[in-house]
Amino acid sequence: MLDIHDITAASRRVMDQIVHTPLIRSAALSESTGYETLLKLECLQITGSFKLRGATNALRCLTPEQKSRGVVCVSTGNHARGLAYAARQENVRAVACMTRHVPGNKVDGITALGAEIRIAGENQDEAETEAERLVREEGMTMVHPFDQLPVIAGQGTIGLEILQDDSDIDTIVMPLSGGGLCAGVAIAARSMNPEIRIIGVTMEHGPGMVECLKAGRLVHVDDVLTLADALSGGVGLNNRYTFSLVRERISSTILVSEQEIAEAIRHAYFQEQQIIEGSAAVGIAAALAGKLPACRKMAIIVTGRNIDMHTHYGLLQGIGQGTNPDQQRNLSGH
Ligand SMILES: *Cc1c(COP(=O)(O)O)cnc(C)c1O
Repeated sequence: MLDIHDITAASRRVMDQIVHTPLIRSAALSESTGYETLLKLECLQITGSFKLRGATNALRCLTPEQKSRGVVCVSTGNHARGLAYAARQENVRAVACMTRHVPGNKVDGITALGAEIRIAGENQDEAETEAERLVREEGMTMVHPFDQLPVIAGQGTIGLEILQDDSDIDTIVMPLSGGGLCAGVAIAARSMNPEIRIIGVTMEHGPGMVECLKAGRLVHVDDVLTLADALSGGVGLNNRYTFSLVRERISSTILVSEQEIAEAIRHAYFQEQQIIEGSAAVGIAAALAGKLPACRKMAIIVTGRNIDMHTHYGLLQGIGQGTNPDQQRNLSGH
């Protein structure tokens, strides 16, 4: 359904618009894990997360006719930012549908990138209904945050870059939510090294894909407040691609606690000089907690930096370690 050729094609399609992000050795994490540990800094990507890759590829796969009618997404954050930016580059109209619970800083960021915001209802279902209406009545094209082949191929370009930059890597660790990132990276990396280990990390609170993998089928998982707000939400009961792609390709999954995520955000700041968001911190969290298996050389994908800076400041002071519900309320994307 998707192979390395789709990902190399995606790479060519998006390369003039995205940053080939650095893959840098972390002395602190190599020391603490006992294995060579590198960080793939997608937090330095334009728009603040890797979602720009999938969105750009999806947009550039559209026909001129589709482009003229615009694109729509249901997203509370990083996907909407990526799509807004990509659409503006191509002079395409973009509408982001979201619930009224989205934090203000996220809304402002998306608006600044040029997308229209459509606040539609209380929950994800209502936002989706509005997006479907725009597809039906205005002929817009839906760009899904993870469950579309061009999006998965776009995210997979990260896997290509990692192994191009260091072919010795035998383990890639990354956040797992809808699974677009894991699926794309796994397809790319496996085609270059069939033995490579692919590890997905997510939060203990409401791990949508992990519940589905355990059940062996698509199950509903409630959104739960978490520091890793970009990872909350299920994979969808109508999931077409990512559940089976991830199930076939992932080596293992790991869960991390809210405290471990907070600790990883602090580690990124004080030891790696990086500001990263909770969702991006789960790989580092797993490493610091000693939850990763032995390997020769691993790359941890640090996926984004879009965190409310006051929240970040509080976390650095040791406030709101992920256990304070008021702190969390401000963070939840859903
Ligand atoms: C979307 C996102 C993820 C998870 O990606 P999936 O493809 O949904 O698994 C991880 N980190 C950040 C920062 C994200 O925005």
